Amino acid sequence: MSQPDPDCLFCKIVAGDIPAEVVSETEHTFAFKDINPEAPTHVLVIPRRHEPDIGSLAAADPDAAIALLNEAKSIADQAGNGSYRLVFNTGADANQTVFHCHGHVLAGRSMSWPPG
Ligand code: 5GP
Ligand code: ZN
Repeated sequence: MSQPDPDCLFCKIVAGDIPAEVVSETEHTFAFKDINPEAPTHVLVIPRRHEPDIGSLAAADPDAAIALLNEAKSIADQAGNGSYRLVFNTGADANQTVFHCHGHVLAGRSMSWPPG
C-alpha cells in the first residue's frame, strides 16, 4: 500500500485533516464536493491511495481505478437524469492543479463541447 503524501491537499482531505463535504466513502475511494462548483452537481472522486493521475492509478492499482469509475457512475446516477461528464484533467497544460488523481463528476446542467 502506498503512503500518503504529507504535502498533498487531497491526502489531507482523505485523512480528515482538512474538512470537506463528504459524499461517499468506499474501500478504495473517497468523494467530496468541489469547493468551487462548476455545475449543480460537482463532486470529486479520488482514490484513497496517492497517485498523481488516473493513468498511474490504473497501472499501480487496477482495482482502485475500477472502483473509482464505478463510484463516479453511482454519484452521477444519484445526481439526476443520466447525463453527466466525468473529467480527469491530467497534467498542467490540461489544467490539473491538484496532483492526486481525481475525477470531476459534473451533472445537473447542459454542457458544451469541445472544452476550452
Ligand atoms: P483540477 O484543476 O486539478 O482538475 O481540479 C482540482 C479541483 O479541486 C478544483 O475544481 C478545485 O475547485 C478543487 N479544490 C481545490 N482545493 C480544494 C479544497 O480545499 N477542497 C475542495 N473540496 N475542493 C478543492
Ligand atoms: Zn495525495
